Amino acid sequence: MSRPPIDLRSDTVTKPSPGMRRAMAEAEVGDDVYNEDPAVKALEARTAELLGKEAAIFTPSGTMANQVAVGVHCRPGDELLCSATSHLYVWEAGGIARLWGVTPRTFMGDGGLLTLGDVEDAIRPDDPHMVRTRLVTLENTHNRGGGRVHPIADVRAMAAWAKGEGLAMHLDGARLMNAVAASGVSAAEWAKSFDTVSICFSKGLGAPVGSATAGSAEAVRKARWLRKLLGGGMRQAGVIAAAALYALENNIDRIAEDHEHARLLAEAFVEAPGLHPEVWPETNLVWVTVDPELGTAADVVAHLKSHGVLASALGPQTLRACTHLDVSREDVEIAADVIRSIDPEAIAAETVVY
Ligand SMILES: *Cc1c(COP(=O)(O)O)cnc(C)c1O
Repeated sequence: MSRPPIDLRSDTVTKPSPGMRRAMAEAEVGDDVYNEDPAVKALEARTAELLGKEAAIFTPSGTMANQVAVGVHCRPGDELLCSATSHLYVWEAGGIARLWGVTPRTFMGDGGLLTLGDVEDAIRPDDPHMVRTRLVTLENTHNRGGGRVHPIADVRAMAAWAKGEGLAMHLDGARLMNAVAASGVSAAEWAKSFDTVSICFSKGLGAPVGSATAGSAEAVRKARWLRKLLGGGMRQAGVIAAAALYALENNIDRIAEDHEHARLLAEAFVEAPGLHPEVWPETNLVWVTVDPELGTAADVVAHLKSHGVLASALGPQTLRACTHLDVSREDVEIAADVIRSIDPEAIAAETVVY
């Protein structure tokens, strides 16, 4: 294959652009554990402003950004309410229980998207047999829900209820800027419903590393303690903070393009034999069900790979393709052609039968 593979496995695979690398090289840095890194401070201030919060803290990963928020809101013996398909619950190595002694209580919702109706009867009574219900977390966009955007009215209704019940709300906003692009609702407007909000710079925004959690000054002060506990205190982190700042300045406006690209891929999957988008993409993720007659998701992913298109098998009959800023319109058109011309006989021939 003469062209490099078109990598649709994840929006984490992006590499820093020349402009971003320049910003990194020129970053003014200091020891951030001494609170002396100007680039980190600038990023934290900019993130807080974007999310309409008092403060923000830079973390090495989205996992840490979420986990420090759980630690801020909960004490051991507490319970949090979350989607059964949320990153916090499924893909963070059990951190909720292992790090904080918190019990997760999960709900299926509508394709993983929770509404007030799912959780309003879930608060535990004040009873020594039970855990204390303390926190609700949402994920917007919801990855396993096909990258769908929560309806803002649902989020606001849940926030009003949570406030009345004395529960905290945390948003896993790893792809919040995708939700912003798709909904036209600003990041600060989304964030209003939550006490803390995490955001990833290393997904669709294209930075090589880093996430942040925003909230009140007091929440972020506690988060700083917990980040240190987790080994996330970073020294001259300005070199990576500068990349995230560059991403916020340069890579937000183009996100809608990724969503258009995802829809082009979805159309190709519809035309391919035995492949069905789970939901129509609202953002940059296309989750696809593979008919068993065609093969397994791994078979299809291997076939696509042999034609220079990389996707992820994320279940026996489930694959995901993801658009991002390192995938051009031309790449998407090539990938769509490869998808459309999937030949069931070729897949059958490639499949190794043991
Ligand atoms: C990627 C992601 C995260 C954080 O992942 P890291 O790999 O730890 O940066 C959190 N939530 C969601 C929904 C994600 O997709």
